Amino acid sequence: MAGLIKREDVEAVRERTRIEDIVGAQVTLKPAGVGSMKGLCPFHDERTPSFTVRPAVGRYHCFGCGESGDAIAFVMKLDGLSFAEAVGMLADRCGVQLRYEESSGASGNVRRDDPGRRQRLIDANRVAAEYYAEQLFSSAEAKSGRRFLAERSFGRADAEKFSVGYAPSGWNHLRDYLQAKGYTQAELLAAGLVKQGQRGPYDAFRGRLIWPIRDTSGAVVGFGARKLYEEDNGPKFLNTTETSLYKKSQVLYGVDLAKKAIARDKRVVIVEGYTDVMAAHLSGVESAVATCGTAFGADHARIMRRLMGDFGAGGGLQLASGQSLGGEVIFTFDGDAAGQKAALRAFGEDQRFHAQTFVAVAADGMDPCDLRIAKGPAAVRALVDGRVPLFEFVIRTTLERFDLNSVEGRVQALRETAGYVAGIRDRAMQDGYVRSLAGWIGLDIEEVRREVSHVVKSPRKPQERHPARSEVRAESQDPAPQASPAYHLPNPRDPVAHTEHLALVAVLQYPQHIPEEFDMLGPSAFTTPVWRAIHDAIRAAGGVATGRTLATSGWVSAVETQAGEALSPLINQLSVTPLPEDREEVIGRYVADVIRALRDLGLTRQIADARSRLMRTDATANPDEHRVSMEALLALETTRRRLRETD
Ligand code: ZN
Repeated sequence: MAGLIKREDVEAVRERTRIEDIVGAQVTLKPAGVGSMKGLCPFHDERTPSFTVRPAVGRYHCFGCGESGDAIAFVMKLDGLSFAEAVGMLADRCGVQLRYEESSGASGNVRRDDPGRRQRLIDANRVAAEYYAEQLFSSAEAKSGRRFLAERSFGRADAEKFSVGYAPSGWNHLRDYLQAKGYTQAELLAAGLVKQGQRGPYDAFRGRLIWPIRDTSGAVVGFGARKLYEEDNGPKFLNTTETSLYKKSQVLYGVDLAKKAIARDKRVVIVEGYTDVMAAHLSGVESAVATCGTAFGADHARIMRRLMGDFGAGGGLQLASGQSLGGEVIFTFDGDAAGQKAALRAFGEDQRFHAQTFVAVAADGMDPCDLRIAKGPAAVRALVDGRVPLFEFVIRTTLERFDLNSVEGRVQALRETAGYVAGIRDRAMQDGYVRSLAGWIGLDIEEVRREVSHVVKSPRKPQERHPARSEVRAESQDPAPQASPAYHLPNPRDPVAHTEHLALVAVLQYPQHIPEEFDMLGPSAFTTPVWRAIHDAIRAAGGVATGRTLATSGWVSAVETQAGEALSPLINQLSVTPLPEDREEVIGRYVADVIRALRDLGLTRQIADARSRLMRTDATANPDEHRVSMEALLALETTRRRLRETD
């Protein structure tokens, strides 16, 4: 349970953890201005980095999707860990010994998450993988497994490279082996290595050929298992059930071996099975991976994008705008109807992805494994090299249904495919496909263009697409803050709200540079409701006087605590938003200017109020009141003049 680790230990972990290292292990970060780093967001799909990390503050914020938090939150969200697990993992890294609050309640049954549990499950999987691998070449029973591999031209060294193993028949070989090594039944169940039966746990995989599935770091998180025996009534392939380690929407078989090549070549080849991954790698296509028991989805795409996502300096195709053209994602489909359907289905999803997506289909419909056996490794490489863009594949597959030798067939074919071309959002690419389509069907370019623009104007069936956050905001480079619906966000062009926003950024990030006068500002110093609410929280947290005594991360947390959950994302965002000027030498001066501008605005408002009050007071009827109003106005004007004179 979350609150059980001592608070000061959590703070120590927060302070000692270098967020740029934690995030940097998953996302390629590049310096973006002083004190700030940027990368492709791991939480949504994007091509232009809007995921910002400020190491000094210990926080991240994505200006595309609004995800934000500190290192603990990052690990929780990305790895699906509980708070205690995340703190435990980070504590291990930065060498903080965690202590736990003693439970005051009488119930001795309070269960706390063991922060080392994840590591235990990873270890159990590793030991299981070693056991299976050992079985493949040591047990007589595994002969059928060895034969299966040999029939596909895989030798012993190949099997070892991919840690292929064999799960013996019988109900409890692995269970007993792991229990003898000290793993508990609960751990084996949690790792998905055994299943709960009526007479106790039994081995999840029995009498099957086994491929360990690893994450990008090489840790075994689950297994894929192929049926070998007729009497096995299970499906051809079995995978580990969903566990805290194994999420089928995220795992990719071979990613640990492929990740270097993926980053280097900016290309990933998606094949359909374990043996295809092996065949591809052994044929020199080292960026091959396969999904495990599910279709390639948005989560997979995100992981691939992250591995390829080397933008900015250092290779890759660069556009003049500095935007990277990104890499290629190549799908190999065996040319059957199912594969084509999969490609067509993929067409309905994220288009920014599609511009990089290619399809490789062997002429005789062979998969990489068959191809390597029949024609050798060069044929596998040729398959991949012969890829065609997904758009082209989908359109030409559709055209095959029509008789293009008849006028009627050509007209129908145009109607059917114009929608695809109209759906291409990239203008230049759309125009290219208008020309190609005209050529493929044998029609005049203008005729095709007319049909396509007709579809654009009156979409026959608007493409149903998920209104996922990534879809809506991915392109937005504008750091428009997202707040909870309870607060109305100011127009970014409102100059007063803008100054207030800058002031809050400065106060949260550079309390040591904020002039003392800031703490004397009352509740009306900020006029934009949402910024005023955050100013209230700053005052409740003790103002910059407190802020100066804390590490920046501690100060931001203190304000967050006062502000409450609804404002938390916004505070996070403020704490990573770069100021227009943040070079070390001039930051103090810049911050002082921002606060002065804020105070100036407040005084100007007060002067306007005082002036209007003065005009409403009758000097003859109420001479005293008039004099007081006059003095108040003069005092305010003097204050403002002095403020403007200090420079
Ligand atoms: Zn994002």
